[in-house]
Amino acid sequence: MKIIAHGGVGSPREVDKDVQRAIDNGLSDDIFDTVVGVVSAMEDDPIFNAGTGSRMRLDGSIQMDAAVMYKGNIGAVAAIESVKNPIQVAAAVYETPYVLLACSGATEYARSIGFSSHDPSTEKRKKELQDMHDKLHEHEELMDIYQSVDGGDTVGCVASHEGEYAAAVSTGGTNFCIRGRIGDSPLVGCGFYAGEHGAVVTTGKGEELIKKLSAYRCYLLIPEIGLQKACDRVVEEHTVGSSIGLIAVGKEGVASSSSKQMSQASFK
Ligand code: ASP
Repeated sequence: MKIIAHGGVGSPREVDKDVQRAIDNGLSDDIFDTVVGVVSAMEDDPIFNAGTGSRMRLDGSIQMDAAVMYKGNIGAVAAIESVKNPIQVAAAVYETPYVLLACSGATEYARSIGFSSHDPSTEKRKKELQDMHDKLHEHEELMDIYQSVDGGDTVGCVASHEGEYAAAVSTGGTNFCIRGRIGDSPLVGCGFYAGEHGAVVTTGKGEELIKKLSAYRCYLLIPEIGLQKACDRVVEEHTVGSSIGLIAVGKEGVASSSSKQMSQASFK
């Protein structure tokens, strides 16, 4: 099995060891269980913006997005609340006739299948929110603050095994967004894609990744120009003033590209 995982564009390379530990903890014989396991391990590590340690919304709530894609099927949750592992709820959605459950319906579904209530907030995230509210009191415009926000610390993992590919992603969203905002991560072709040519996961400001269908763009380029060049090309094309990072796996192995530092680790 080949695996590559990332800890979000903008995250320092010192965090590579934490991504590596998640790979070690999540690795199994099954490709689906591996991508879900690696992402679950990162959700449990509060250093990342996913699961416990997710960024807070402006009102202090935490809403999380996650998705998994394998064998042409998808399971995803958006703006889910009070669960420990959104990716595991997405994996449960994968087994249903549905693709994406959102907001209170996603949380209610999680409860109905046995996911207990969990508070993913941390003191670090509470302080970040307080600091931002202090800035707002200094008359900075909310939209200016949001425009200045870049993606960060979202997690993702792609894997290949015997010619099959899988992708998984999880996030608390961008900093200081409003309640109800859904980013690229649970949207197919935007935050993730997996098919016969490989699997791709993106990180960065979700609004831009959605407009550019960044994951699918990269996926389509893989057979045309190769894995590494496909990742590099999508980074080059991303001329919108916000950062972008991608990881991908294909016949050639694993690749990554980003417009600034991005923690990552792989297993080849
Ligand atoms: N893509 C994520 C989002 O917009 C953020 C990130 O990658 O850190 O929700």
